[in-house]
Amino acid sequence: MVIVDVLTLFPKMIEAFVQESILGRAQVEGKLHVRVHNFRDFSLDKHHKVDDTPYGGGAGMVLQVEPIVRALRSIEGHQHAHKILLTPSGTPYHQGHAKRLTQYPHLILICGHYEGFDERIVHYIDEEISIGDYVLTGGEAAALVVMESVVRLHTGVLNNAESTEEESFEDDLLEYPHYTKPMVFEGHEVPEVLRTGHHENIRLWRLDQQLKRTRERRPDLLVKREKKQR
Ligand code: SAM
Repeated sequence: MVIVDVLTLFPKMIEAFVQESILGRAQVEGKLHVRVHNFRDFSLDKHHKVDDTPYGGGAGMVLQVEPIVRALRSIEGHQHAHKILLTPSGTPYHQGHAKRLTQYPHLILICGHYEGFDERIVHYIDEEISIGDYVLTGGEAAALVVMESVVRLHTGVLNNAESTEEESFEDDLLEYPHYTKPMVFEGHEVPEVLRTGHHENIRLWRLDQQLKRTRERRPDLLVKREKKQR
């Protein structure tokens, strides 16, 4: 069982997403438990304010550290959980991080908003993650990206038909192209080799396609792959 706690100002965004598809199924099957906390509920301000103006001046509002820390401490088992702050300044996220994060049975994901967090939050977390070089309005989509990519790698969450073994980024290669019926669509044919039933030729064709695609679209992955093979 994996436990994921999400701290957010917009609980409904998380709650709706985790009801569906693989995350929804994993919860029904008792393999995942997602708990969502609104850290506004932990504000000591009578108007439940959680942000304030930045010291030193400048535009926008900054999330205060106190309501977030109070929310963190209210979570059962928080002392042993792995705590992640979602921020554009964090470590760029990739499949390797998703695999690494499967070692933690309990994750806490903290979503920012406005200009981001009071920097002193770093004393209460384990790592900072960015899902890419762009700026979102809030950390919810980022938290969902991390949660889904990690949870689907946990044993027993995916069924056999959804195996992760041949997916993109395994072995630092992109995946080969897939085809299904019809055999011809508006003159576009399924490659002949896939119709032969010759398993070894199909395997070689797919590997060749993986290498070709990766070379064209993500040469950085090939460099990484070669370094690992040395
Ligand atoms: N002022 C911040 C900056 O320039 O880095 C941007 C703050 S952003 C508008 C508000 C929140 O969205 C952030 O605190 C973070 O939680 C989340 N967020 C935005 N972009 C993100 C990204 N690429 N990865 C992870 N979280 C992100």
